[in-house]
Amino acid sequence: MEEVNMTLRIYNTLTRRKEVFRPLRKDRVGLYTCGPTVYNYAHIGNLRTYIFEDVLRRALEYSGYKVKHVMNITDVGHLTSDADLGDDKLDREARKEGKSVWEIAKFYTDRFWDDIKRLNIKKADHILPATKAIKEQVKIIRQLFKRGCAYETAQAVYFDVSKFKNYTKLSRQKLSQKIVGAREEIVADPDKKNPYDFALWFKLAGRFKNHIMRWSSPWGQGFPGWHIECSAISTKFLGQPFDIHTGGVDHIGVHHTNEIAQSEAAFGKPLAKYWMHGEFLLIDAGKMAKSEGNFITLGTLLKKEFNPLSYRYLVLSAHYRSKLNFTWKSLVAAENSLKNLYDFIRKLKEEAGSKFGIKKAGAISKYKKSFEEALFDDLGAPGALAAVWDMIRAYNKQPANFNPRSVLSLLYNFDSILGLGLKDLKSEKPSRKVLALVKKREIYRINKQWQKADEIRAKVWALGYFIEDSSHGPIAKKQ
Ligand code: AMP
Ligand code: ZN
Repeated sequence: MEEVNMTLRIYNTLTRRKEVFRPLRKDRVGLYTCGPTVYNYAHIGNLRTYIFEDVLRRALEYSGYKVKHVMNITDVGHLTSDADLGDDKLDREARKEGKSVWEIAKFYTDRFWDDIKRLNIKKADHILPATKAIKEQVKIIRQLFKRGCAYETAQAVYFDVSKFKNYTKLSRQKLSQKIVGAREEIVADPDKKNPYDFALWFKLAGRFKNHIMRWSSPWGQGFPGWHIECSAISTKFLGQPFDIHTGGVDHIGVHHTNEIAQSEAAFGKPLAKYWMHGEFLLIDAGKMAKSEGNFITLGTLLKKEFNPLSYRYLVLSAHYRSKLNFTWKSLVAAENSLKNLYDFIRKLKEEAGSKFGIKKAGAISKYKKSFEEALFDDLGAPGALAAVWDMIRAYNKQPANFNPRSVLSLLYNFDSILGLGLKDLKSEKPSRKVLALVKKREIYRINKQWQKADEIRAKVWALGYFIEDSSHGPIAKKQ
């Protein structure tokens, strides 16, 4: 890795400012990402958030930090609304699909990993489903009882928000704004003290009498509330405080607010130093959400024969803190840009082979600088892509000013953050089989055996090439 002279600045939702990133421990970064809820496919909005988090992780690694990345999988107890109302989504989906809740969770977790791989998103170093961390969640709830921040009713165990100062420090909402959203829940549990108190543990009572996933606890059989898993899993692997906690903007007001309350009340220390949130992907200018049923999956894109990395490119072309409206037209444009980038890399590879030895590395340092400046200024991926294209345009204008090898190696270096698969590009040179067929067809053609010549042309097409008859003879070109 070449030297990086830039300091990384990131926007901290907690302070509402861009701050210079300073890790809690030298050279190491603890990073926690809220993982998927696995009762359905991830939609491309969810995936936008995972791409932003991947770019963050890669930028930290590019800067020389050793990153310990932790993620949960929500495979239990995530209810139909953030106010803890309604059914358990997993239970509901299992009934709908006629499968067990465990099968549903396994199936959609596996599909999530398929998507992550296709998008070149690095897998977290430690991944734990909520159902594998019940002991740890119970432990934190017990600790909250000891600290006087939890109470029990016939239906559930709740966090007592009135016992935690600064409950809304992340969202900066007024508590009165929250009461409205949570009011209905008081009807569901008449013993709840405040409408904005949130569940730490649900008992098998009332609407959850027949809940399938259940565990023993000091409060009887039941299952954990949604927020507690992230407090338990982050602390298990990263301790407290850790460096960066991430998620989508929808988590600011409820989920992350509750995580902070639980973890900080339990351990008397801050949960994370920096909080980073990715803005939403919109569809037809509205929210794309699993519960809305308007969502597009990566599978939809694949069926339409898009390269999944074109979607990654599209996401990179907007800043992670800006809303991005998804349109098919914008995806086509992203795919074209990516194809052009790939074509340039292929050309560079050929030229790097023949022109090795020219030393003009100096010509590229300004592009490296502007790439890093953009990226290290709160992950400005659009600016970083602009630096890439500036360099490509300059190269195409005056190739003699550049050493193709250095340009190629710099682009590979950039791609360690962009993740567009530049190093994995296969050569488009036809295989020996294709070349042999082209030769054979040429003989038929010279002998005016048109039908046979056409049959071979079809075979070449089936192998992904077409034949162009030039003044120097036939050439096989990639379709
Ligand atoms: P979920 O599986 O619903 O818990 O969501 C997984 C991640 O996607 C979370 O970080 C959410 O904040 C995020 N998210 C949900 N909807 C969107 C959206 N439309 N655009 C971007 N991120 C989203
Ligand atoms: Zn979380």
